Amino acid sequence: MPRLGVIGWPVAHSRSPAMFRAAFAACAMADWSYQALPLPEELFEQTVCALGASGFLGANVTIPHKRAALEIADRASEAARAIGAANTLTFTEDGAIEAQNTDAPGLIAALGRLTGIPAHPSALVLGAGGSARAAVWALQDAGAAEVSVWNRTPERASALAQDLGARAVAKPLAADLLVNCTSVGLQRSATDAEALNQLEMTADHVGRYAYVVDLVYGDAPTPLVAAARAGGAHTIDGLVVLVAQGALSFEHWTDRPAPREAMRRGAGIGGATR
Ligand code: NAP
Repeated sequence: MPRLGVIGWPVAHSRSPAMFRAAFAACAMADWSYQALPLPEELFEQTVCALGASGFLGANVTIPHKRAALEIADRASEAARAIGAANTLTFTEDGAIEAQNTDAPGLIAALGRLTGIPAHPSALVLGAGGSARAAVWALQDAGAAEVSVWNRTPERASALAQDLGARAVAKPLAADLLVNCTSVGLQRSATDAEALNQLEMTADHVGRYAYVVDLVYGDAPTPLVAAARAGGAHTIDGLVVLVAQGALSFEHWTDRPAPREAMRRGAGIGGATR
């Protein structure tokens, strides 16, 4: 029985288990399983190293482990190495761990759903963690005119910018495309205004971006997506990106075409707005 899962901390919010189970059902893969694997940072390495021997074929990796996922791997794809982070681990029969990054091509695939987006947009990426690294690399690889990075901790934005050849900025500046790769909006205890404030933005400020992608998702539109929609922007939220990167991980592990519509439904994407 091939086992898969998603490792994160927190991970209870993840729609990946529902999305993958929908994929298995659509492909009559009744013996496959996919589960949430909540792992704090101090348990990441020892637990991940034991997963292969426990019957796991692979695992997706999310907040905050994407950089550690690359470091732990015996082999990694060229893109994962260039990005400096991985979200897809495969446990091979010889006991090795292979790392890949499907966040980067997943983001570019998801951007295809933004009607009218320029071929070479200028972009501002918020955040400096594993998903921000993938977004900056992917946007550059896809020919973005310019990629800037803002982060709450500016030193991390500078380090990322230096590693990947982007531009670190002290304030969120104007751009065609805004991509939120911070975890702001994940915990819904703050008001929308408070959440935007954590990104040094107001709703008016968000309204200046024509295209907005939020990697975060939840039951309701995130504060960023809500403000962007109110300002008339074209938006996609984290569920669209989740399906795009999850479909690529599915294809890598199973060597079959991913049932993307079933995965969209499994992830909870219902309306035309996504
Ligand atoms: P990570 O490596 O832990 O990075 C977290 C980032 O969020 C850092 O830049 C951090 O800034 C910033 N941050 C955290 N709390 C903040 C706050 N209160 N105010 C401002 N900035 C804050 O995480 P990650 O793996 O990159 O993931 C980031 C988010 O993207 C998560 O919510 C994750 O679920 C989501 N994600 C979704 C998808 C998808 O498929 N939809 C894919 C990837 C990631 P500091 O450097 O200052 O700490």
